Amino acid sequence: MPSSIAPVHVIGGGLAGSEAAWTLANSGVPVILHEMRPVRGTDAHKTGGLAELVCSNSFRSDDHEANAVGVLHEELRRCGSLILEAGDAHKVPAGSALAVDRDGFSAMVQSRLEAHPLVAIERGEIDGLPPADWDSVIIATGPLTSPALAEAIQSRTGSDSLAFFDAIAPIVHTDSVNFDVAWYQSRYDKPGPGGTGKDYINCPLDQDQYETFVQALLDSEKMNFHEWEATTPYFEGCMPIEVMASRGLDTLRYGPMKPIGLTDPRTGRRAHAVVQLRQDNALATLFNIVGFQTKMRHGEQVRVFRTIPGLENAEFARLGGLHRNTFINSPRLLDGSLRLKVEPRLRFAGQITGVEGYVESSAIGLLAGRFAAAERLGRQPEQPPRTTALGGLLAHITGEANPETFQPMNVNFGLLPPPDEAETITVNGKRRKLKGLDRKKVQARRALADLDLWLGRPRVAVE
Ligand SMILES: Cc1cc2nc3c(=O)[nH]c(=O)nc-3n(C[C@H](O)[C@H](O)[C@H](O)COP(=O)(O)OP(=O)(O)OC[C@H]3O[C@@H](n4cnc5c(N)ncnc54)[C@H](O)[C@@H]3O)c2cc1C
Repeated sequence: MPSSIAPVHVIGGGLAGSEAAWTLANSGVPVILHEMRPVRGTDAHKTGGLAELVCSNSFRSDDHEANAVGVLHEELRRCGSLILEAGDAHKVPAGSALAVDRDGFSAMVQSRLEAHPLVAIERGEIDGLPPADWDSVIIATGPLTSPALAEAIQSRTGSDSLAFFDAIAPIVHTDSVNFDVAWYQSRYDKPGPGGTGKDYINCPLDQDQYETFVQALLDSEKMNFHEWEATTPYFEGCMPIEVMASRGLDTLRYGPMKPIGLTDPRTGRRAHAVVQLRQDNALATLFNIVGFQTKMRHGEQVRVFRTIPGLENAEFARLGGLHRNTFINSPRLLDGSLRLKVEPRLRFAGQITGVEGYVESSAIGLLAGRFAAAERLGRQPEQPPRTTALGGLLAHITGEANPETFQPMNVNFGLLPPPDEAETITVNGKRRKLKGLDRKKVQARRALADLDLWLGRPRVAVE
């Protein structure tokens, strides 16, 4: 690796680490990529290959006109992503989704990196904080970061800054809540620090509705824990809602669905039970259902949660879950270029930053690579526009998400600013604000146009 520029060390040769290494090397910065497999394995990976897909072979929707992950695909392609190039080269038929032949995909990522003159791949675990003379490091060790490194990160960042499990409550698009039924109020109208007394969205249930809802939770189909997840003792603090429901008819009414301190403005009384939603992002376009982490199947969640009064037409930005997942509290710990504030030589990328999914992890890998390359070459790292999917994800994890409730997040249009007020459509001769699909299309077009300006390339029309 003959170069006068000192190398950047990337730890973890998964999706994010491979993307970061490729981005750095293509910017002219040498990289040493450290991957512990096959010397040491994880509970989910099966091979020694770089960028192994641990479960599904799908990168989800490839629709760049109306789907946020499709927009992210297209942005990554335009940024020169290796993960998307290999995905496109090894795609298998999957309707409007981008699904890949996992072996061909991983082999291509590995061979491209092995062939790059500025990339050196070293196999072995990094079992503590990187040595002090590594002055620029990207940690991209993923949801199954080896325990020794996870503990070192935890001791550097503080015990409540690294989680070993996610406990994801479903997240709803605010504009899909029915405010003829739901209302804004904090319990006992308490403003708390920084609130207004109207910080939560509340959905009321009468006794019949509550008992039917509890029964629906109990009857719903659930996902299984992996064997190695089931034996990890982290569950008491973040118990799935259906497990709480199974402990007694009133357990939820004394737990996350307690109605005290809340008055339904339609009746002037306290409801039998209340589902509360808490603001999830600074734009207030997303609210999470408080305490509703769940192992219910995704289709079941939509069906059962839409029986909650006020959520009949809820659109979900993401559904609930509970998984083994190592991630840091990025909104508290990282600066805008993904550096650890207390030790800026360390950057983070991928799922460990609290994004969720193959494509999102790759996206943060690409950004970390760009930022580290700029820094190494003496340039100012430039953040992508806030209106792009890349910019929305980055802003979410580096400051806009609430650090108190931070949980891993997929890309979705709620992370992007709403369309300009001036954007309206005419229906039956009347101008009205954009909604639903029309709104997503405007956000998608704006994202790609702004990305092109940022990249300094002519605007591209995509078929
Ligand atoms: C069981 C499971 C199933 C999942 N299924 C899906 C799915 O179907 N679809 C989806 O979109 N997302 C899925 N995810 C979520 C996530 O998007 C993927 O895990 C994704 O691979 C994350 O990319 P990453 O690069 O951050 O981490 P990874 O791809 O896991 O890469 C991290 C790499 O770091 C290495 N490593 C770890 N510790 C060290 C160390 N100390 N030293 C050196 N190397 C180290 C690992 O061996 C690994 O190769 C799943 C996660 C898990 C745990």
